[in-house]
Amino acid sequence: MTVLGRFAPTPSGRMHLGNVFAALTAWLSARSQGGGFLLRMEDLDTQRTSAEFAQSIREDLTWLGLDWDLETEAQSRRSGTYEHYFQILAERELLYPCYCTRSLLHSPNAPHLSDGTYVYPGTCRDLTEAQRAAFRRAPSWRVRVPDREWSFTDLAQGEYRQNLARDCGDFVVRRADGVFVYQLAVTVDDGEAGVTEVVRGADLLSSTPRQMYLQELLGFPHPSYGHVPMLLAPDGRRLSKRDRDLDLGALRQRTTPEALLGALAKAARLIDRSEPVSARELAGEFSWDRLKGEAVTLDPDTFLQLLGG
Ligand code: GLU
Repeated sequence: MTVLGRFAPTPSGRMHLGNVFAALTAWLSARSQGGGFLLRMEDLDTQRTSAEFAQSIREDLTWLGLDWDLETEAQSRRSGTYEHYFQILAERELLYPCYCTRSLLHSPNAPHLSDGTYVYPGTCRDLTEAQRAAFRRAPSWRVRVPDREWSFTDLAQGEYRQNLARDCGDFVVRRADGVFVYQLAVTVDDGEAGVTEVVRGADLLSSTPRQMYLQELLGFPHPSYGHVPMLLAPDGRRLSKRDRDLDLGALRQRTTPEALLGALAKAARLIDRSEPVSARELAGEFSWDRLKGEAVTLDPDTFLQLLGG
């Protein structure tokens, strides 16, 4: 089977180093196997995203030398498609309306896992029609999850297992304002496009069993998964959009693509030497063995010094 990888950014800001790392590793994995690569803008949240940021991401990828064969339709334009799959779930009676408010869900009495993740207790699962009607407001829609374990071998994180009933609970696929949520959109988009390999940040590892469950329900094959380490500052804080000197707007002013990729690849242990390197060269020596672990520590000051300029 031909490998098809993808990069699916949320265009809510300029690309920062974490996005570059996710894009780079996804591209390296696909290209090192002679595979295709696609780009998709995840702009479901139309308040936070913009066409300008989407365009800056395309330009930044091009500057980095990360090319793509196809850009598929942005999520904000695909609600008709998501509706179609939503109806498939509805017809199979897998969905139910949920009237729980945010404050109820996040109350201190609500069950939480040790990592703070909220487990939906099924409050609205078995409401009667009369009880539903009494709410007089638009509900969100949840999909019922079975008491079953999903397990897979992640290319970077190794064995991962999750029982959706115990670790997550029935989850929302459509919000009360009608917007479809990421879990459904990403499953449909990757499934329809024929993506065979999903490479993204380790912060999305725990989403994967939900997506695998939806893939099964909607008849899409499971892609393989690689959740690459997050880039953390020495104090344990995740490097993010707030580190303005590490976004590509700032970095492109002070360095070349090869110097940036070389410094990033060295910091993330993809290569052992310190030297400028192109994305193509990195693809020639890419190996998942170098990408194990949950985090890579990167000191912004040292990193910027390494770049010179
Ligand atoms: N849009 C997500 C993000 O920018 C990535 C989702 C994914 O790769 O599945 O964090």
